[in-house]
Amino acid sequence: MDDFDADVIVVGAGPTGLMLAAELRLAGATAVVVERLTEPMRQSRALGFSARTIEEFGQRGLLPRFGELDVIPVGHFGGIPLDYRVLQGGSYGARGKPQSLTESVLGGWAAELGAVVHRGTELTGLRQSPEGVEVELSQSGATRRMRARYVVGCDGARSAVRRLAGIDFPGTRPEVEMWLADVAGVPLRMRFSGERVPGGMVMVLPLGAGACRVAVYDAAAEPAGRAPTFTEVADTFRRLTGEDISGGRPLWVSWFTDSSRQAASYRRGRVLLAGDAAHIHLPIGAQGMSAGIQDAVNLGWKLAAELRGDAPDGLLDTYHSERHPVGARIIANTLAQRILYLSGGELDPLREVFTELLGYPEVQRHLAGMVTGLDIRHDVGPGTHPLLGRRLPDADLLAGDRKTTTYELLAAGRAVLLDLGDDRALRDEAAGWADRVETVTATRPDAADHSHALLVRPDGYVAWAGPGAGAPPLSAALGRWFGAPRRSS
Ligand SMILES: Cc1cc2nc3c(=O)[nH]c(=O)nc-3n(C[C@H](O)[C@H](O)[C@H](O)COP(=O)(O)OP(=O)(O)OC[C@H]3O[C@@H](n4cnc5c(N)ncnc54)[C@H](O)[C@@H]3O)c2cc1C
Repeated sequence: MDDFDADVIVVGAGPTGLMLAAELRLAGATAVVVERLTEPMRQSRALGFSARTIEEFGQRGLLPRFGELDVIPVGHFGGIPLDYRVLQGGSYGARGKPQSLTESVLGGWAAELGAVVHRGTELTGLRQSPEGVEVELSQSGATRRMRARYVVGCDGARSAVRRLAGIDFPGTRPEVEMWLADVAGVPLRMRFSGERVPGGMVMVLPLGAGACRVAVYDAAAEPAGRAPTFTEVADTFRRLTGEDISGGRPLWVSWFTDSSRQAASYRRGRVLLAGDAAHIHLPIGAQGMSAGIQDAVNLGWKLAAELRGDAPDGLLDTYHSERHPVGARIIANTLAQRILYLSGGELDPLREVFTELLGYPEVQRHLAGMVTGLDIRHDVGPGTHPLLGRRLPDADLLAGDRKTTTYELLAAGRAVLLDLGDDRALRDEAAGWADRVETVTATRPDAADHSHALLVRPDGYVAWAGPGAGAPPLSAALGRWFGAPRRSS
């Protein structure tokens, strides 16, 4: 098996698959996306993205494509108000951007970068060998085969890739069910964080242009295990609030549960999983779609390095070791929020204690960091610098007489050695990695911290900060993340 149709076949053109295809192209790999739907999905689904995902779009220069962003500073944890501004860059995320728009932005970007999307093409079979993966595809009733060196299943909660690769998906069965309706023409009071009412919970979110999203939870109802009708949603809304939405125009009616599952492994040989194929949970705070996009940003550069042949041993496995714990933590926090949010009065004492705890800034920072993804810290080796393993925030820079920003430097998807101390010896040390790591000498006009130099991975996480502060030599970090130098430095 050596005649490959592409380096990577990405299965599924949802937000995760499209982001991954673009990231692979940025890093120089060829990517073909296969998608069973013949047309892009038009449903609103996730109405926004989290603070860390705003940053990841920002570091690729994508934010202007979303139009004006409504970034919400305050939100909630399980219905208990939480001010996200306790963290630098903290927010409840960008809201009012339907998933169909996110997919259209990411699809356009991936296409510009040369990713090919085959629509109306369903993956039905998969066989891997030591050299590559052959997939069987169904296209308008005909069967065709394609080969690639890797396949990534971004094919959603019922992932065929996961099943065909034999990867388990353990977790919890649904205990609660919520119904939702996007509805136009009914002026309603917004309930951004949800409102607990006798018998359940209701949420009302703005959708733009005279429309809103209504979500209802009826504690007394038996889970139906199916999508409701609009009449059923309107009846429940009236029962819980006394307000009538039945005269509105339904745009989309759907349902979801709190079933929470996670793939036992994000990789089996040449098959990997990302997004909902790897983790599902109750959608709270746009963490689901955001996590998928972050999976893609973590995986793209690692897979491309593996394909080029310059990845150090074990780099690709850090995709699982870094992202699996993040997915597990999202599952834990959404289940905790579900308990606070959707349980009855017996939970009131716990809510009171939680509300009290949230009076402490340290507790606020902890929870805000958890649900925004801003507290993610990868194990990148020894050192004591506070940014080590963490995401690099956006910051103004002066490179010579050119004004730039940390995010502008990351837009090309390359690793960056940010030389903030004009250190010739460090630049010389990095010279052997010049094909993979861009070295930029700059100063920070508004710097509160005077970092000497930072090595930033293509996904925006700081892999080394030094010299000093217990840091290993720069060359050791370069070798750990980007492989051997091209020539001895
Ligand atoms: C009703 C509802 C409301 C939601 N609300 C929110 C919310 O408010 N916030 C939030 O963050 N998330 C929300 N979500 C979840 C969010 O939509 C998902 O997390 C997100 O879509 C995951 O993206 P993905 O790309 O990983 O998977 P998906 O979006 O599921 O994309 C998978 C793609 O793979 C394709 N595919 C599947 N099988 C195959 C195959 N065999 N061959 C080829 N193609 C295949 C599918 O057609 C699909 O296009 C909601 C979901 C639903 C259903």
